[in-house]
Amino acid sequence: MTKFKRILLKLSGESLMGNQNYGIDSQRLQDYATQIKDIHQMGVQIGIVIGGGNIFRGLSGSQKGFDRVKGDQMGMCATVINSLALSSALGALGVKNKVLTAIRMEPIGEFYSKWKAIEAMEAGYICIFSAGTGSPYFTTDTGSSLRGIEIEADVMLKGTRVDGIYTADPEKDPTATKFSEITYDEIYTRGLQIMDLTATTMCKENHLPIYVFNMDIVGNLKKVIDGEPIGTLVHN
Ligand code: UDP
Repeated sequence: MTKFKRILLKLSGESLMGNQNYGIDSQRLQDYATQIKDIHQMGVQIGIVIGGGNIFRGLSGSQKGFDRVKGDQMGMCATVINSLALSSALGALGVKNKVLTAIRMEPIGEFYSKWKAIEAMEAGYICIFSAGTGSPYFTTDTGSSLRGIEIEADVMLKGTRVDGIYTADPEKDPTATKFSEITYDEIYTRGLQIMDLTATTMCKENHLPIYVFNMDIVGNLKKVIDGEPIGTLVHN
């Protein structure tokens, strides 16, 4: 028996760039798919949300003169592109999966519903939830909080390029120390930014714990599922 029966895995679009400045690095994509296949074989039910920051972000677009809502819609389309890439990589490894979209766009993906997703996960499909929440002014962190709560996941696993939450940004402050666990209240009082506040608050109010870990090291996802303390757990 693994620690978690059902998880929501959040992957950032930015990480998908690997060492490139833009787009999808095929090695990184392959590494993600392999890690996901490994935990799928352990019997974990998996929902995935992937960001779009490697292609387009609405907020940066609006700073360059794009209409914010159209920019966010472009960002949501970017998450669909990444979701299709991940779906294709998983399919190539023989892993059954479905792309569900928050905005109708058949035949690219099926229109999302909670029950469709749960039925598919129980039948052994990985569900990739794309287009975020379907609404502008949100992020894919909020999208993954929402989907994680809806599908009744035991935890949201937030795969990042750092190995957890620190007292300060470890890339800027060498004295920063890592938490093995931390409460949501402490996240607020210390002003730590693990996700945007909307996403964090949704998880807090609905008692969805978050586990932050470094997904860019191959093998780490399995370690998290095995219960190895490699990241930071956020809880109430
Ligand atoms: N986005 C949106 N609504 C959502 C989710 C995403 O409008 O519910 C847009 C927004 O413009 C965002 C972009 O999609 O900047 C890409 O998502 P995000 O920035 O969260 O990607 P990540 O940082 O995880 O790569």
